[in-house]
Amino acid sequence: MYEAVIGLEVHLHLKTRTKAFCGCEAEYFGQAPNTHTCPVCLGLPGSLPVPNRKAVEFGLKLALALGSRVPERLLFHRKNYFYPDLPKNYQISQYDLPLGQGGSLPLGGRAVRIKRLHLEEDAGKSLHLEGRTLLDLNRAGSPLIELVTEPDLHTPEEARLFLQRIQALVQTLGISEASPEEGKLRADVNVSLRRPGEGLGTKVEIKNLNSFKSVQRALEYEIRRQTEILRRGERVKQATLGFEEGSGKTYPMRTKEEEADYRYFPEPDLPPVPLPRAWLQEIRASLPELPWEKEARYQGLGIKPQDAEVLAYTPALARFLDQALALGEASPQALANWLLADVAGLLRERGLALEETRLTPKALARLVALFERGEVTSRVAKTLLPELLEGQDPEALVRERGLRVVADEGALRRVVAEVLAAMPEAAESVRQGKLKALEALLGQVMRRTRGQAKPEVVRRLLLEALGVG
Ligand SMILES: [Zn+2]
Repeated sequence: MYEAVIGLEVHLHLKTRTKAFCGCEAEYFGQAPNTHTCPVCLGLPGSLPVPNRKAVEFGLKLALALGSRVPERLLFHRKNYFYPDLPKNYQISQYDLPLGQGGSLPLGGRAVRIKRLHLEEDAGKSLHLEGRTLLDLNRAGSPLIELVTEPDLHTPEEARLFLQRIQALVQTLGISEASPEEGKLRADVNVSLRRPGEGLGTKVEIKNLNSFKSVQRALEYEIRRQTEILRRGERVKQATLGFEEGSGKTYPMRTKEEEADYRYFPEPDLPPVPLPRAWLQEIRASLPELPWEKEARYQGLGIKPQDAEVLAYTPALARFLDQALALGEASPQALANWLLADVAGLLRERGLALEETRLTPKALARLVALFERGEVTSRVAKTLLPELLEGQDPEALVRERGLRVVADEGALRRVVAEVLAAMPEAAESVRQGKLKALEALLGQVMRRTRGQAKPEVVRRLLLEALGVG
């Protein structure tokens, strides 16, 4: 048996208003080609870059959240290579003194170590159309964080989970939308196999994976491929691979440049940027509650560990839950159940995101509280949920439609008597010990009370009336 050793390289687009080294607007998604460019990001001679303070601040937020070491000053390097969509023929990046070194991200009860994270600019885009190649340089010069992990992951599933957690973290920090579908989160993965306890095997790199699913599928395929090679007694060749979505297979891309090929040298147009410790303190103090801190807090409130984890790492749900909890009306676990089961199920059914509905934390908290206080049955509460998505107030609905639990046992006994008279055969079956028939009677009473009776009360009254139990 072989063990997979996986490392990730994640590219995150920072949500700054302007690009990394010029004043062009950084939000280019869906815009007409080459409308967000200027002499600096087009690499015209004589133009000079100016570092974007916000991009540095965003990068520092991530570094501090992950517990990475931050240098005294920020150095930029040129990474030289030729590519048609890289007009300067070099990329401003960082080399031996990155924005952050070390640190870790919690995953499944352990820590995945971070090797480094650095700030760099993105390249433009080549569009290959009908035998021609067109260039769109709107993306050129947008600020990116490249985050590299140590090879601490061991399964494709873990790699996917790690990316989802990084996504949740940067969304919580408000520094990146990290939407793979808009190319704002891209990943390269490297993977090698070894027998447990042995040294690292030869690794291959798979480049430009643009969805969580591709990361998982590419790794699954590559682990199978390498396992077969090793079983045949052959060696895995070091390679840079691409991944084809359609076939689900990896393919060789190009031989990997050696670091020396990039001829890194200090960017002469950018002096080092000092990173005063007071500024770091300020940024650290401004960090919001991080997902793993949220997870611990939710558990402390009595939310089941598994639910606490899902909620804490889904920023939209966590925000909603926190607002609902702040009202103090419903219990934390009940809110968690409703959010993760009923609300999530209804949203899935309708293909909507939570923020696309008019459901408010207050409305959900009130509905859950009505149910928890025993004022409405779970069935009634569930039937009201779709209307809450339309922005309705649960208490008003319950009041207007008279949906409160029928707590008057006298009234319920009368319904029970009616049902028993209407269904004599079922009643007789139950008297003879066939308790299955009880469900039919129960269902009938529930229908006649429009779901407003508590099933356990109805069951007890039925058994009493039948002289059973
Ligand atoms: Zn520009």
